[in-house]
Amino acid sequence: MSTPQPRATVAEIPPYVAGKPPTVRPGMTSYKLSSNENPYPPLPGVVEAVQAGVAAMNRYPDMGSAALYTALAETFDVPTDHLSVATGSVGLIYQLVQAFCDPGDEVVFAWRSFEAYPIAITAAAATSVKVPVLADGRHDLDAMAAAITDRAKVVLVCTPNNPTGPSVTQAELDGFLAKVPSHVLVVVDEAYLEFVRMDDPVDGIATYRRHDNVVLTRTFSKAYGLAGFRVGYAVAPAPIAAALRAVSLPFGVSTIAQAAAIASLERRAELLERVDALVAERDRVVAGLREAGWDVPEPQGNFVWFELGERTADFAAAADEAGIVVRPFAGEGARVSIGEPEANDRLIAVAGRWSRL
Ligand SMILES: *Cc1c(COP(=O)(O)O)cnc(C)c1O
Repeated sequence: MSTPQPRATVAEIPPYVAGKPPTVRPGMTSYKLSSNENPYPPLPGVVEAVQAGVAAMNRYPDMGSAALYTALAETFDVPTDHLSVATGSVGLIYQLVQAFCDPGDEVVFAWRSFEAYPIAITAAAATSVKVPVLADGRHDLDAMAAAITDRAKVVLVCTPNNPTGPSVTQAELDGFLAKVPSHVLVVVDEAYLEFVRMDDPVDGIATYRRHDNVVLTRTFSKAYGLAGFRVGYAVAPAPIAAALRAVSLPFGVSTIAQAAAIASLERRAELLERVDALVAERDRVVAGLREAGWDVPEPQGNFVWFELGERTADFAAAADEAGIVVRPFAGEGARVSIGEPEANDRLIAVAGRWSRL
């Protein structure tokens, strides 16, 4: 008897490997450094804004997320019709592929990069074109430009790149954009934008204003500490933003997610001070690792990449023993988030012992 069959591509969708929760160890605080989350608890005013939303859970959210659009437009000085909010920037990636790719169309991106990319691309029956990152974890933008064929519809630039860490510079992005045909959509995934401290950083807003084919994707999950609520936004020229809104899941962004995002934008200065503290911790970790002989790719997000090859699983196990859970990529390396100072101390200690083995 025949049974309903999903599209053939569904079986090809790679699984998303979520960061593991911390292992419970009696007498020891364990830390989760496996999902690039913000270690700070929510700010008080944000919790209260969410509580007001909780009382209205019998009602659908505002489908137009009107107050959130207004807050984003004011904060970033862009028109509301250049915005599209979504259930996290993962939601945006799905929507971008759905809106711009027919089955078999190509999406070019660096690899290794964010693991949700090939999932969203395969789910839409589009084709992934993976361009290996350079030895120092940077995007090979020349090779990515060269990989754009007649079938390419979208290019993803992940900056800072998850999981390797480095960012592209504005000059590099400008040089790349000059080579990309104007009908190819360039997605600049700025999930970790707030953590970038470098010379010639990308100014995403100025960049999208100069190009009709550039979309920025951003999230409240990392710097703003709202990973559990699923809210992100895209900034793009009006026709691209309209296409994203057209394919969005109706009522996708919940009442409490909208409330938390608005309250967070109101407290942006306070949140960005926390980001400064995390960046200071990142610098401390990098200095500790250098001292121990580690040469990690320049981390511009809230995480550090260890290239470990076949030693990856052993490193993850050693970290786990020390009470920190990292995100191993089997046979390649481990990504470790910057967390609480004690967690970062343990990382420095574990990595220090490791390099001396
Ligand atoms: C974490 C992350 C996102 C954001 O995901 P959300 O769906 O907004 O939680 C997007 N891109 C990259 C590269 C990320 O690491």
